[in-house]
Amino acid sequence: MDVDDDRCPCGSGDRFVDCCGRYLLEGRRAPTAEALMRSRYTGFATRDREYLLASWHPSTRPDELELDDEMIWRRLDIVSTDAGGPWDESGTVEFVAHYRVDDGTAIGKRGRLHETSRFVREDGRWLYVDGGFDSIGD
Ligand SMILES: [Zn+2]
Repeated sequence: MDVDDDRCPCGSGDRFVDCCGRYLLEGRRAPTAEALMRSRYTGFATRDREYLLASWHPSTRPDELELDDEMIWRRLDIVSTDAGGPWDESGTVEFVAHYRVDDGTAIGKRGRLHETSRFVREDGRWLYVDGGFDSIGD
C-alpha cells in the first residue's frame, strides 16, 4: 500500500505516516488512550492483525483474531474520553465507528458501532482491555 500521501483512516486529517502509521509501522508508543484507540481503528481499517493483537491486553487478548474482509471502516468519531492521558494509568474512550458491508452491491449495508473501550497503561504502553457495546447496527 502506498500510504505516503494518504490521509490517516482515523480521520485526524493528518497523513497516515504522521498519524497512526507511527504506531502501526514504526512501533512507537501511543501517548494517550485516545491515540491508541485511533490507531486500533486504523488497524481494523487496514486489517493489521498483528498490531491489533499487540495492542491488546494479555488478559483479554483473543488467541486468534478474525477480521471480516467485507467490513469497510469508513469513519471514526470520538464521542468522549475519560482520563487516558500521558500520566494516567487507565482511561476510557467512547466512539462511534461507521462501516459499510461490501456485499457486492453498489451501496452495501451501512451501520455503526458505538462502543466505550477501556484502556490501561502498563510499562508506559497503552493497551486495549475491553469494550462495552452500546449499540451495533443501523
Ligand atoms: Zn490516525
